[in-house]
Amino acid sequence: MLAAILVEQNKPLVVDDISLQTRLDVGQVLVKINYSGICGSQIGEIQGIKGPDKYLPHLLGHEAFGSVLEIGPGVRSVSKDDKVVLHWRKGRGIDASPAVYEWNGRKVNSGQITTFSEMSVISENRLTKIHSSLDPRGLSLLGCAVTTGFGVICNNAKLKIGESLVVLGVGGVGLNIVEAGKLAGAHPIISIDINQERLNFSKRFGADYTISSISKSWIDEVRGLLPKADVVVDCTGIKEIIEAGYELTNSRMILVGVPKENISINSLPLHLGKKLIGSHGGESDPTVDIPRLETLATAGKINLEELVTEEVELKNIQSAIDKMIAGKVVGRCVVRC
Ligand SMILES: [Zn+2]
Repeated sequence: MLAAILVEQNKPLVVDDISLQTRLDVGQVLVKINYSGICGSQIGEIQGIKGPDKYLPHLLGHEAFGSVLEIGPGVRSVSKDDKVVLHWRKGRGIDASPAVYEWNGRKVNSGQITTFSEMSVISENRLTKIHSSLDPRGLSLLGCAVTTGFGVICNNAKLKIGESLVVLGVGGVGLNIVEAGKLAGAHPIISIDINQERLNFSKRFGADYTISSISKSWIDEVRGLLPKADVVVDCTGIKEIIEAGYELTNSRMILVGVPKENISINSLPLHLGKKLIGSHGGESDPTVDIPRLETLATAGKINLEELVTEEVELKNIQSAIDKMIAGKVVGRCVVRC
């Protein structure tokens, strides 16, 4: 089967045939991947943001939609032919060991979930059964972008009706934070980004105001609209943006973007009730959250389909990754596997 392999950091992925070495182990599920999203985390892995990678060569990807081909011993929550969302956060079921693949006589590592391949062996607890016949491309984003965005609002920020929301960076996850904020009754919602197309796009998901961060005056522009925001969420991971965002609230600042360097802040307000919260996928519980979001999408209350703005074939995945690195993707890019 075809797969995109990370062989070396900061090099293009190698798209080639790999094979599975062993039979399915306890808790493992063989899934035909239909669509996989590409997320900032994979860009971080490719660029080596967390340092040297001892698992190279390895597979990548952590949100997808597919169908079950075969289940390993002990698997109870899904069965053959089930439609499933693949997610990186743990849900119900066995936490299986990662599969090992072979490529030209070399061992290729994977994790409990990898999705940039035609088929993949997934741990049972990274799969949630789907019942609707919604667009599979949109459903794939329930694996990370959407669940993270909604989790940030509900679990990390615990946003209340009428609270104000500032979202720094409105890429895939940021858009979902805007949409979740709107659904949760936030007002006003201000989105900030360097990309004007992304800002315009965020209005369709509920942003009341958009401010370009190209000029440093963006901070004053936010203050002009809102002396202090209730909730500020950073999706950029950029030091200057996080530090400025922290000053914009006396209440809650949530960090979602993969941090690129250390930040420097005045910690005194933290003693006086201000909160600085690091989010881990919105602390979402896929087993509970994905069916809820599926229901909302089926009822037309959230729009998954519209989030998908680009589609590439697996063999062309690098072109999409390059576009993401260049900051040119508006919405979310999916890979057809
Ligand atoms: Zn992700």
